Amino acid sequence: MLYQRSSALFKAAQNVIPGGVNSPVRAFKAVGGTPIFAHSAKGAYVYDADGNRYIDYINSWGPMLLGHAYPPVVDAVIEKAKQGTSFGMPTEIETQIAELAVSMVPNIDKIRFVNSGTEACMSAVRLARGFTGKEKIIKFAGCYHGHSDAFLIQAGSGAVTFGSPNSPGVTEGTAKDTLLATFNDIHNVRSLIEANTDEIACIIIEPVAGNMGCIPPKDDFLKQLRALCDAHQILLIFDEVMTGFRLAKGGAQELYGVNADIVCFGKVIGGGLPVGAFAARDEIMNHLAPLGKVYQAGTLSGNPLAMAAGLAMLTSIENDQDLFKRLEDKTAYLHKGCAEVLNKHKITHTINRKGSMISIHFSETEVVDFSSAAQGNNETFKSFFHGMLNEGIYIAPSAFETWFITDALSYDDLDATISAVEKVAQTL
Ligand SMILES: *Cc1c(COP(=O)(O)O)cnc(C)c1O
Repeated sequence: MLYQRSSALFKAAQNVIPGGVNSPVRAFKAVGGTPIFAHSAKGAYVYDADGNRYIDYINSWGPMLLGHAYPPVVDAVIEKAKQGTSFGMPTEIETQIAELAVSMVPNIDKIRFVNSGTEACMSAVRLARGFTGKEKIIKFAGCYHGHSDAFLIQAGSGAVTFGSPNSPGVTEGTAKDTLLATFNDIHNVRSLIEANTDEIACIIIEPVAGNMGCIPPKDDFLKQLRALCDAHQILLIFDEVMTGFRLAKGGAQELYGVNADIVCFGKVIGGGLPVGAFAARDEIMNHLAPLGKVYQAGTLSGNPLAMAAGLAMLTSIENDQDLFKRLEDKTAYLHKGCAEVLNKHKITHTINRKGSMISIHFSETEVVDFSSAAQGNNETFKSFFHGMLNEGIYIAPSAFETWFITDALSYDDLDATISAVEKVAQTL
């Protein structure tokens, strides 16, 4: 494939944007080579600036559950834009999407909209601290909750990819209030709680981790976390920025039958526009300004274009009874096909999957937490990534990311992907 135009665009961008990108993982640093500039996308495909077509497994890092340029979303945004794009006043559509979200997700009475997943998680933690009057938080190594200071302690995703888990600029004072636990290890969480009695405001977790590849929780791990939180008056925060409206209408809470105290959303809830949200029962949400004392605000929060996109997206999900079954079937089909060809060519690997999230790890051991995820062979991943790209398959340019399966993928697309994996496997 030719990337002339992308190379030229990247060069120009680097002069005026740090590293040429507005979010680090896009720069391809972990895999080398020139990042591809997107030109347009439709359904399961993304087209780059040179006119190359790719079957897309990134899908804007999650939002495009139903495919790119999904007509109900595009139409809703266009119609809304004609009425003005922002008012700084409340609008009716904010209540409409809030009512729908509250009806779809278990155990929430109220929801507050923000502009990104980062904002949602950061505000959720502030609310948990305000509600409990306690200061420390527990997060899990390899889980990513956005780039706010308190979370940049062994965060997954781009932060791990660049080997700078603790970013300069995060103060020691902030870091000391974030305790680090091991995903899927309840004993480790229990001992952290016991060593910090009455100091922990909340435990925040990706209920299915998606920022160190896809790592589902072990049997009962979420239930055990719930029990520990109840026993110690700790709020449980599910960061469902990735899993919300993706694993089920009600997200991981519904799928695993475990209620969180605060739930964070992003990605799918905005249908591809910048939206985040956090939600909880009244007793917690009523602590938020202007009802309560915990301050949180945003000039563009609840923006009508973003709400229109989100409402069209959630409405489509709500009205589609078979969606999650179709997504899971497609993901299972891809899993089986990839495993067969990788086994045939004796490539050491582990595939993790939950719902429409799947990741291939080039490692021998089971991948259950950050340290096992980090054991994957990165050189093999790099070759795999570039091989797939050359075959017209766009997966995330980092071994620490999940693939996102969209409903727009046909079985022909999946077969083409499996054939590409077979072709690439022969070169690994
Ligand atoms: C993407 C992501 C975030 C951050 O969302 P942004 O919109 O990028 O700020 C937070 N948590 C999880 C689980 C995510 O996947």
